[in-house]
Amino acid sequence: MFNSIKLRLALLFLLIFSLVFAGLEFFQHHELKIAGIRLVDDHLKSSNQTLANILTIEESHGQIKDELVELNQTATGEYALKLSGHYYQITGASDSKALARSPSLSLAGAYLPLLQPSDEPRYDTITGPDGQRLRMITQNYRFRAGVLIFQTAESLDDVSRLASSLRDLSIVIYPALLILCGIAVFIISSWALHPLKAFSRSLSRITEANLGERVEEKGLAAEIKPLAVDFNTMMGRLEASFTRQKQFLSDASHELRTPTSIIKSFCDVILGRTRSADDYREAFRKISETVNRMCGIINRILVISRLDSKEMRFSPSKVDLNETLKDVVRLIEPMAAGKGVRITLERGNVTVSGDREGLTEVFTNMVENAVKYNKQGGSVHITVSGEADTAIVTVRDTGIGMAAGETKKIFDRFYRIDESRSQTIGSGLGLSIVRSIVESHGGSIDVKSEPGTGSEFTIRLPKNPVWKSNGSTHV
Ligand code: ADP
Repeated sequence: MFNSIKLRLALLFLLIFSLVFAGLEFFQHHELKIAGIRLVDDHLKSSNQTLANILTIEESHGQIKDELVELNQTATGEYALKLSGHYYQITGASDSKALARSPSLSLAGAYLPLLQPSDEPRYDTITGPDGQRLRMITQNYRFRAGVLIFQTAESLDDVSRLASSLRDLSIVIYPALLILCGIAVFIISSWALHPLKAFSRSLSRITEANLGERVEEKGLAAEIKPLAVDFNTMMGRLEASFTRQKQFLSDASHELRTPTSIIKSFCDVILGRTRSADDYREAFRKISETVNRMCGIINRILVISRLDSKEMRFSPSKVDLNETLKDVVRLIEPMAAGKGVRITLERGNVTVSGDREGLTEVFTNMVENAVKYNKQGGSVHITVSGEADTAIVTVRDTGIGMAAGETKKIFDRFYRIDESRSQTIGSGLGLSIVRSIVESHGGSIDVKSEPGTGSEFTIRLPKNPVWKSNGSTHV
């Protein structure tokens, strides 16, 4: 259930909105209280000033004492009610003696506390005589008779009540808003994720039967388009690999069909009627030869598939290229002698870090081809040399050569030039194995050829490739 992006988004938004709303509520409550207190302070200031004005007027008439006495009794409204939450008090600064108090105080026998009075108004929040929270102003006023301290106080109950009623309202409104936002986010995210659904529908249309199908990139949302582009690129690679595999399978079957037909026709001949012992021997010799050829093809197919799947593990060691090529020449010489081809090896003192068996396979293929596709009485010249970090082996022959257009194709699997196909036995797999092994060693192979004159293959191998633990190189 929590795997749903929509639900996760809705929950995330709910969490964020809750925090925002809680912060907002706290801020509103705080600001409202401050504004309420400011209003009360303004009111206290004007009440205090009014009291002071009355005394100033009365002093000008010389009646300040009478007025102070009168203030104790004549207060009206809230000031006249006992503990009403509205109080005033006038105190002599010299003796801290209360000269007048609102009846709301005197009826309860209570006083307002004197908190360091000064000429500037001073505001305090105090606990009143009946335990209420009060806001109080204290300020000195100068009269001819001396300095008097004026204090007026007012209950903060109204401010608290206002703040609490706003909080009560928020407790109802915010959760409702939260739920509405949650639903809105759920609906919006469903709508926003709709293109993904459409994308997934077009993916599900691609099957093994229509690997060429691609996701339509035009018109896709900007966030999904890169996904479609990557998917299409990946499908391109998969399709190419699938096609290669199919082609490989069909080529392999095709290559194996010829020897199989040969074997079958010899068997038919043998079984057709009774033959002489020599005929049987000849037929079995041909069958054995063909089976050998088939084994050769099958072995090469296996090597290719192991190279493809990276199952082929190379075991790197120091390989002396002179020695390796000497062994290869020794191996091929009998075949070359049969064709009157002379092999020469121009030595160079070069050692590489590589797989001995793999490199022997490479050079055997090269020299074998140079003899196989050579003319009667031709020659093969091999050179081993080195540049700074690279070993170079060239195999030059005076053979049939090949046209410029063919030099790229001969490394493809099962590719054989028509001319060679009709004249020599082969599988068309040798050079593709050679290239794979050389590239696995971090090297490269090139060919220059002239039809009727000969060919020159050049293999470049890094002397010290960095071998990874899985047997591949990192040059
Ligand atoms: P195979 O030799 O078994 O046919 P390869 O993969 O070794 O397979 O070679 C592929 C093709 O390249 C050969 O069939 C041949 O047509 C061509 N080729 C390879 N080496 C030479 C060469 N030295 N001279 C001319 N053609 C060559």
